Amino acid sequence: MINKKIFAFLVCAFFLAGAVIVNALALKDSEPVSVGELQVWPILDANVTMESSLLPGLKDFPQYEGVFANGPAPAVDQTFLVPINDRLVLIDTGWGKGGPKDGRTLDILSENNIKPENIGDILLTHMDIDHIGGLLDGDKATFPNATLWISKPEYEAWINGNLDKRPEVAKAKAKKVAELYKDRIKLFEYGDEIMPGITAIEASGHTPGHTAFDITNGGQKLTVAGDIIHIWPVQLPLPQLSTTYDIDMEKAAKTRERLLDRAAAERSLFAGMHFPMISPVIKRADGGFNMREPR
Ligand SMILES: [Zn+2]
Repeated sequence: MINKKIFAFLVCAFFLAGAVIVNALALKDSEPVSVGELQVWPILDANVTMESSLLPGLKDFPQYEGVFANGPAPAVDQTFLVPINDRLVLIDTGWGKGGPKDGRTLDILSENNIKPENIGDILLTHMDIDHIGGLLDGDKATFPNATLWISKPEYEAWINGNLDKRPEVAKAKAKKVAELYKDRIKLFEYGDEIMPGITAIEASGHTPGHTAFDITNGGQKLTVAGDIIHIWPVQLPLPQLSTTYDIDMEKAAKTRERLLDRAAAERSLFAGMHFPMISPVIKRADGGFNMREPR
């Protein structure tokens, strides 16, 4: 009889194989942040810069013009990898290849022996091109096994709406993603717990269905806040200033203030896709915010 022992061994080996990927994870060039027992790994997809002209409100705060004294302000494009139980969860996918920027998320995963087929879930903060580019490998879906999570209002806006503030090429990419992943897309509502310990938080303004994700474990919380901030040396002290990337600039400013306020009050960790800090948020007496800058 293919006996019970061999069967039990195979079952164990199967689970251990999954566990090895997750438990032995140590991404080169990345420092994980602990949230309870979870580890969250930021991945530097690309270095980018941001022009001062993105901030029309800057003219009222000339004391911050020095941020651009040496030209456009440096910023980052990040994605985040979160191993949960025996699954690998990726938050956003970066630029991918063949677009205006060369995204390195897949290269970094591959350098660490993580193949696209190992990714079990992908959570999107929104559908701009620097967040969904990595989902496409030419005319194919990059990730053959992943479930793709998108907020209902975000999907609706990109796939069935107009979004006249976004270029046709970006909308075409979003539609390609919808087509290639159609059987594996799960739409969520704000407030939904997408998987144990990850909850979708309303963060609209930058795009109509822009989402932040609260990652909670062991009484600790990290909010991955997507594109809530593009030019952190200005928008942390002056959260009321939105960039022209924000489709609804007023709403984006309210969302920015609300989420930073909440992080400061709850003493939780805060992170985003375009600033490198992952730290608590401190509210200043003048209404602005501080975060701990990386060494
Ligand atoms: Zn972005």
